[in-house]
Amino acid sequence: MTRTFRFAPSPNGFLHLGHAFSALLNADLADAAGGRFLLRMEDIDTARCRPEFETAIDDDLAWLGLSWEQPVRRQSEHFGDYRAALGRLEAMGLVYPAFLTRAEIRARTADPAWPRDPDGAPLYPDDDRQLPANEAADRIAAGAPYALRLRMDAAIRIAGPLAFLETGSGPAGETGRLGADPARWGDVIIARKEVPTSYHLSVVVDDALQGITDVVRGQDLFHATSVHRLLQVLLGLPEPTYRHHPLIRDAAGRKLSKSDGDSGLRELRAAGVTPAEIRRRIGLENPLPHPTPST
Ligand code: GLU
Repeated sequence: MTRTFRFAPSPNGFLHLGHAFSALLNADLADAAGGRFLLRMEDIDTARCRPEFETAIDDDLAWLGLSWEQPVRRQSEHFGDYRAALGRLEAMGLVYPAFLTRAEIRARTADPAWPRDPDGAPLYPDDDRQLPANEAADRIAAGAPYALRLRMDAAIRIAGPLAFLETGSGPAGETGRLGADPARWGDVIIARKEVPTSYHLSVVVDDALQGITDVVRGQDLFHATSVHRLLQVLLGLPEPTYRHHPLIRDAAGRKLSKSDGDSGLRELRAAGVTPAEIRRRIGLENPLPHPTPST
């Protein structure tokens, strides 16, 4: 089987050294495996993603020396695929409309003892999941905005025990065949109020549709993998191998952000830094060994 890798940025800002590391690592691994390297634009957030950022991403990646297959999959052009997957989860009785506003969630979860997800956000209160179906339908008919959330406990019961193969490591050094623990996320969003899908849903649908065998991404997404494995099992999608890589940090040890200039690829390039120097800075100067063909 051809191993297939992807770099999947959101075109809501300019790329920095951390993105360069992820993109180059994916491309190097694809090259070493004689596999494919794809680029995917994760632009479901149509309010924040812009075509000029997408053009800048193409430009920066090409400058780094990368090439990728065409056409590039742009998530905003595939809402129908995510809708179909959502329909399957709905048919399984695993999805409910969630009406609480941000302010209501904040107020309901203000107690410091309220449980939090691995990203530190409070778990969604269970008000809406208890709502009788006719009452929810009335509210929707009356025009109340709602997101769709997953009934996590029921989903886990259906899916059974979940695991994934980590060939890199999680933030605490987790590696090898690992148990997935999606319960830590509570009733995750499956479709947002203003967007008919979510990050988690579109990522698993696309990884399957694009035949991704190897998901290589930053350790900040390590815990999200538990949700991805759950959705893959519920939707009957194949299981990729995961490799989470350490994040590139600034001199003060902070995670890089799209808004700080000194690690931005555009700024570095304008300052005369070469692609070879970028590779040196992020520790990817040596080509990865090609696997020896077995005879
Ligand atoms: N679009 C996500 C990001 O920019 C990455 C998604 C993934 O690699 O699964 O953080």
